[in-house]
Amino acid sequence: MDQPPNTIIIGAGAAGLATAIFAARPNPHANVTILDGAKKIGAKILVSGGGRCNVTNASVTPNDFYGGNRNIIRNILRRFDHIAARNFFTDLGVPLHEEPHGKLFPDSNKAQSVLDALINEANRLNVTISPNHRVTNITKSDTGFTLSVNVNDEPQTIHADRIVLATGGKSLPKTGSDGVGFQLAQSLGHSLIETSPALDPLILAGDFHAQLTGITHDITINIRTAGQKPSRITGPVVWTHFGLSGPAAMNASRFHHRARIENKHQHMSANFCIDQSFEQVDATIQSAAANRPKARVTTIIHQWLPQRIADAICKHANIPTDMESGRLTRDARRNLAHALTDFPLNVTDTRGYKYAEVTAGGIPLSEVDPKTMQSRKFEGLFLVGEILDADARIGGFNFQWAWSTAYIAGAALARELSL
Ligand SMILES: Cc1cc2nc3c(=O)[nH]c(=O)nc-3n(C[C@H](O)[C@H](O)[C@H](O)COP(=O)(O)OP(=O)(O)OC[C@H]3O[C@@H](n4cnc5c(N)ncnc54)[C@H](O)[C@@H]3O)c2cc1C
Repeated sequence: MDQPPNTIIIGAGAAGLATAIFAARPNPHANVTILDGAKKIGAKILVSGGGRCNVTNASVTPNDFYGGNRNIIRNILRRFDHIAARNFFTDLGVPLHEEPHGKLFPDSNKAQSVLDALINEANRLNVTISPNHRVTNITKSDTGFTLSVNVNDEPQTIHADRIVLATGGKSLPKTGSDGVGFQLAQSLGHSLIETSPALDPLILAGDFHAQLTGITHDITINIRTAGQKPSRITGPVVWTHFGLSGPAAMNASRFHHRARIENKHQHMSANFCIDQSFEQVDATIQSAAANRPKARVTTIIHQWLPQRIADAICKHANIPTDMESGRLTRDARRNLAHALTDFPLNVTDTRGYKYAEVTAGGIPLSEVDPKTMQSRKFEGLFLVGEILDADARIGGFNFQWAWSTAYIAGAALARELSL
């Protein structure tokens, strides 16, 4: 009997493992191998969601994503949506439950159970998983591809009939995803949308933040970038010695980098009084001061934010923390309302790939066929997961991207095998 074509998947992260499973499931003779440069695979799955792995979300739409064309993202998500992902994991013995903001976690609350389920299923389907195999170069041969691979630091060449690039991006490089996949794709003719860290903490100028280290509360971050519609991100933040962390700050980080890459002026500010305008806040302070003139100003604004931040905002607005509200001048009150609703966040940088959960930018979606995830540049080359130009906000959406793209590529590979 003829040998079935061999499929080599480069990268045994979420997207690579799932692609192998979907490619091998309908084919008892599928010849699928995953190569990964890391000694131990699945490091990123294990650290995800605080060690609990936020597998997907109860509602996933293209609006949760940035990067490439929204219609392409919609079509990809439709083929294998969050319901399919939930069923996939339930069938693998990993039922999921919903938590606030629609986040779906394994009932075990352990990322290890997600990784184990994927590895066990790949093993059951006779997929070969080879850690310590780092691909350094790919060239086209007459019959497919020749991969240069460092196996335990020894150079080897491996032949592949089809290859899948599931090498991730550059985020958290110690897990093995250091951006080499982008170079491999470029060497095969792909272009690259400039990458930047995303979902990482914001570094702020000045020292306002330092006195607030450790305080967590909800704010709205308003982002105004020249020539773009303003964006608003509401959610928890944590003040730190370097600036601002927590989901809302991390969701804002990609905007900082994309503006910088596009050389566009950007202003970020915090509204500490969520859903309230300057006028509403000003009016509330005015009537509180009229009703309780002896109450301290910081006590009045404490209704919107923790006391330590209320004190810091008063100081920032040049209002003594023991000032009685009845003594507020009109100008001082308006100044305070401005500080509460449009507090400048002078972002100088973000903490970078070392702390980023995902990479923005990547291989353009227009360079893959969304029906198969096959490269439009190179027959037999498939691309899945974070290597592609799509990134999402916090909430399980980035893993959903890995599952959806993996399903499409796996199904296409399986179809070719059954021809
Ligand atoms: C701290 C943290 C927490 C996160 N939490 C969540 C969460 O809860 N929910 C969510 O949706 N998303 C989360 N994410 C994002 C999510 O982990 C990624 O979107 C997802 O892992 C991307 O999957 P991937 O398979 O495309 O890439 P990766 O998971 O990065 O896998 C790529 C694999 O390719 C291997 N590789 C790279 N180059 C080579 C090479 N040249 N040769 C061989 N192998 C190579 C790497 O070793 C790695 O194993 C988190 C990320 C981080 C860093």
